[in-house]
Amino acid sequence: MIVKEIQIAAYLFSSILFILSLGGLSSQESAKRGVFYGIIGMIIAVLATVLGQGVQGHVYIIAAIAVASVIGTLLARKVEMTSMPQLVAILHSFVGLAAVLVGFGSYLDPKTHALGSTEHTIHLVEVFIGVFIGAITFTGSIIAWGKLEGKIRSKPLLYPGRHAVNIVMLLACIVLGVMFTREHGTDGMMYLYIMTAIACFIGVMLVMAIGGADMPVVVSMLNSYSGWAASAAGFMLGNDLLIVTGALVGSSGAILSIIMCEAMNRSFISVILGGFGESSSTGEAQAMEGEVTAMNHEEVADLLKEAKSVVIVPGYGMAVAKAQYPIFEMVQVLRKAGKKVRFAIHPVAGRLPGHMNVLLAEANVPYDIVLEMDEINEDLPETDVVMVIGANDVVNPGAQDDPSSPIYGMPVIEAWKAEKVIVMKRSMSVGYAGVENPLFYKPNTEMLYGDAKVSVEKILSFLKA
Ligand code: NDP
Repeated sequence: MIVKEIQIAAYLFSSILFILSLGGLSSQESAKRGVFYGIIGMIIAVLATVLGQGVQGHVYIIAAIAVASVIGTLLARKVEMTSMPQLVAILHSFVGLAAVLVGFGSYLDPKTHALGSTEHTIHLVEVFIGVFIGAITFTGSIIAWGKLEGKIRSKPLLYPGRHAVNIVMLLACIVLGVMFTREHGTDGMMYLYIMTAIACFIGVMLVMAIGGADMPVVVSMLNSYSGWAASAAGFMLGNDLLIVTGALVGSSGAILSIIMCEAMNRSFISVILGGFGESSSTGEAQAMEGEVTAMNHEEVADLLKEAKSVVIVPGYGMAVAKAQYPIFEMVQVLRKAGKKVRFAIHPVAGRLPGHMNVLLAEANVPYDIVLEMDEINEDLPETDVVMVIGANDVVNPGAQDDPSSPIYGMPVIEAWKAEKVIVMKRSMSVGYAGVENPLFYKPNTEMLYGDAKVSVEKILSFLKA
């Protein structure tokens, strides 16, 4: 009895730590503390569960935790910052798979079928829903991983009548669910198998239907699904902490998805239905007008020496080049020379929500010069130089004036409104959304080709000289 009470207290304490952790993660200054709370909460949660009543086979559990910890540590040490989204996606798939396995395990457990009639039906509903959400999360996350890793083409896979097919599949699952709850013992296994196969298919189709530029929302949406899958597993296992934690992840993921949808000017409902990339493939792409001109490093340094105000727009290329450190050094040199230097961050720059903020924080860039897109856009017409460093889609004017563009309607950083724009990238190649960028052809834009880190270091040497 006392063990049970200690476990409840430990679970409550862990829940509080998880809430504090989420609170901490909402700002850069407190993020480290937030992660720390999360780690402590998770250690307490695991200990309280493993040492709880009725748990057997501790040797196996400890061995599994040890092996998993080694794999986790090695992966976390090895993974590049640019590959984090893929890692997150694959971890989401594990949560989905876990929920499916817990569902099957719970259904096969004789204790389930010893429950009273009403309780038994409620439990079967929990199992069915848990496996359904888990299976969608599992396959959806694997497809998201493939798209982020470049193993699956990022173009949306659209076929006529797919919404009708999705609805029919959903209805089929509801019918199967009703039949499942009416069966006795484990006789409903076949229904569970069929529903799992359908849910796996729905997961694949939902994410396949979404185009490259809209992937940020998919990542946060799957984050949310994985939370609900964990919560469902909590219901199946009768574990309060898992229910609370899953709900925290599920709802925070949903809130993040709404924020991302707003940032990309997309409808939240059509994201959940997995088809808002639909408009992307219609119409001919606009032909590029104008000429591309380039500068060398010395000329860019001279331009910066003349400028009074500079705005830096970082993107995925900054992460690839790990250019944040020399960039901050360059910013310090410019600020010492009395120039107003700020960063403009697009909500979906890079490959993870908050990707750029994390990298700049890593390089110790002060938070007060890092501004969100909405805060800085109106200042850009009065800015002398905008340096676009490894960004592409987030500064694409086509999002405002080319209805055939897959990113049409997405708010962007209006770099072209500045006096002069320097675009630093290695070639003329496209960004993640796979579209040409008219910014490169504007008369006030100059390209500076090369790896972002090498380029910034060269500019820095000219600035110092
Ligand atoms: P983009 O992917 O649009 O462009 C990045 C650019 O960086 C490329 O055009 C590339 O050009 C350049 N680049 C790559 N490596 C280097 C390097 N070493 N040095 C210099 N430049 C380099 O990035 P953005 O940040 O502008 O936009 C993010 C895109 O990713 C959006 O489409 C967004 O929807 C999507 N996305 C965002 C997610 C998120 O959560 N933030 C998640 C999933 C997708 P080149 O090869 O010529 O050098």
